[in-house]
Amino acid sequence: MPELPEVEIARRQLEKWLAGRTIREARVLDARVLGARGGAGGKNGAGAGTPDAAARALAGQRVRSIERRGKWLHLVLARGEVYAHLGMTGKWVLRRADDPDERFEKLRLETSGERSVRYVDARVFGRVLVTNEAPAACRELGPDPLVDGLDAKALGARLAGRRRSVKEALMDQTVLAGIGNIHAQEALFRAGIDPRRRADRLDASDLRRLAAGIRKTIALGLADGTKQSSGDGDMTYVEEDETANPFLVYGRAGSRCPRCRRETLQRLVQGGRSTVHCVRCQR
Ligand SMILES: [Zn+2]
Repeated sequence: MPELPEVEIARRQLEKWLAGRTIREARVLDARVLGARGGAGGKNGAGAGTPDAAARALAGQRVRSIERRGKWLHLVLARGEVYAHLGMTGKWVLRRADDPDERFEKLRLETSGERSVRYVDARVFGRVLVTNEAPAACRELGPDPLVDGLDAKALGARLAGRRRSVKEALMDQTVLAGIGNIHAQEALFRAGIDPRRRADRLDASDLRRLAAGIRKTIALGLADGTKQSSGDGDMTYVEEDETANPFLVYGRAGSRCPRCRRETLQRLVQGGRSTVHCVRCQR
């Protein structure tokens, strides 16, 4: 599932494909991505609701820039905005205008040079909201570790008063923007912190190690994703190809811990999501 690094790679690709160009034609193939109900932007009723209205709002528009905060992409157009979320399986891909429709294609933007920038999403939890108002989920985001930077002090301020487990707090987008299930597990393992500890009980040393762990896992995620989707290539998410799992603990329950090489990595469930951890290395 896409987290901050994958969404940042999508941002860089969209910036390269669209910024400074004019959308000649837009087509919405599945109205669900416009956010009628459910999914990432579901609570927000705003947006050009019908496929025709959305396509009309986009056609002829020049794309100024592509921004990102957390897992939200923000396309700044000459007149208006698009807020897009990849949900669980969403991807933006680059094709030529005369290429056949993609399986699970939901929306496309065609620009000069016969470029066809397409949004594909098998499970349709993602959204492409054509709206002038940021959706509520976007307005409530906490700081983004890549855009805003993250140190021990800032992290401590975000976790203060949070009585939940540190794993669940890290995944809360209003605490920090962009961290999901994979990078929360990786950052806690790197920091040597038990994922069940209360978020507001970490000391200064824990916070330093955790802030560093978050920065490191994001940097590695960006480097790995950039390598895979080199240039204009399609992104692959780890769930689609487990054999290419680049992570230390994610998806590795039952394996030997890569740090102590003695303990077997254990899986527990927190807030309905799996956490893999080492009982010896994480205290
Ligand atoms: Zn260990």
